[in-house]
Amino acid sequence: MDSSALANHPLAPYGWDSRWAAALAAIPSPPPGLEPARVVVELRRHYYAVVTASGELLAECTGKFHHDAQREPAAFPAVGDWVAVTPSPGAEGRAQLHAVLPRRSRFCRQSAGGEQSQQLIAANIDVVFLVSGLDRNHNPKRIQRFLVAARDSGAEPVIVLNKADLHDDPESVRTEIQRLVPGVPVLVTSSQTRRGLKLLGGHATAGRTLAFVGSSGVGKSSLINRLARDAELPVGEVREKDAKGRHTTTRRELVLAPSGALIIDTPGMRELQLWDADEAVEIAYSDIVTIALRCRFTSCLHEDEPGCAVRAAIADGTLPVERLASYRKLKAEQAAKAPSLRKPSAVASKPGWRKKADERSAKPFRHLHHRED
Ligand code: GDP
Ligand code: ZN
Repeated sequence: MDSSALANHPLAPYGWDSRWAAALAAIPSPPPGLEPARVVVELRRHYYAVVTASGELLAECTGKFHHDAQREPAAFPAVGDWVAVTPSPGAEGRAQLHAVLPRRSRFCRQSAGGEQSQQLIAANIDVVFLVSGLDRNHNPKRIQRFLVAARDSGAEPVIVLNKADLHDDPESVRTEIQRLVPGVPVLVTSSQTRRGLKLLGGHATAGRTLAFVGSSGVGKSSLINRLARDAELPVGEVREKDAKGRHTTTRRELVLAPSGALIIDTPGMRELQLWDADEAVEIAYSDIVTIALRCRFTSCLHEDEPGCAVRAAIADGTLPVERLASYRKLKAEQAAKAPSLRKPSAVASKPGWRKKADERSAKPFRHLHHRED
């Protein structure tokens, strides 16, 4: 398909491009009538509303898909995924879902129970806005964690300092944060006064898929509503008949905004903790982490290694020994657990991005702490 044909593709507004077309074409022995679709919401377990070139369909994974995906929950589609479907014969508005196209980014969370399995929350997010409120004490360290985790997902991070109207000097905060995260856009906004909304809109351009994360109350919904202003749109709801034939409606979780941007807004994304539990421990014990930067060996366990700055701090009374003990205890509890986000392999190979989970636990964020010293 040439690019002009793609620009005219009915799914181009949903982000369909030549790379996706190539991924679809690479599906081995495709069944007749295979066509692309994007997941707009999961209606029930493994049952999705998808948008196709000819409109919206209700798609169910094929038996073969179930069989192949069984052992891997993240193999099942999530909102934002591009999938390959065929119309179900004799069932209008229904489709069979055969495959998920390889994801460009993914946001996962640990499944309840803490086992290794990852629950996929959303896929193929291009830009993730990390929103915090200027009315609260912002925490630069936390923003850094956010950033690393967002990049691990494969999405491009943008930091949003919202509620500018509640701060005397938002620009000074922006400058301070920007120094910590060179090269990352840092925006000051107010959904109240509309300050910065043009800048925000500059990242929310046609065909890009966006998501907003951040603590409750920072203004994510308000910003989304501003962006999707007129988006009570025809795209608000999915209608289907339930088992008893009654009409039911479900809110779409992938919404096409008037700008042409695609906004993913799901409870899972809203609740997402972008830092994992291990990182939360690092934040709580940042004093120890900072002292440990001066240990001679980057792999120092602060036991009997020569040149251990942590043992030295205990010896000279600047670090209570109990504090090291409780830090160790929490670290040990976390050690068994997998990280809360999984990186797609394409991202893992990008220079400058963290490569391996074990590198992280060996020496977390050394470069970041250096900047703060
Ligand atoms: P969410 O939990 O992150 O989705 O936050 P909401 O969008 O629900 O906003 C939480 C509260 O903050 C609401 O009462 C909003 O009206 C308010 N709010 C959101 N953005 C701003 C802002 O820029 N300035 C001020 N003063 N209030 C805001
Ligand atoms: Zn040490």
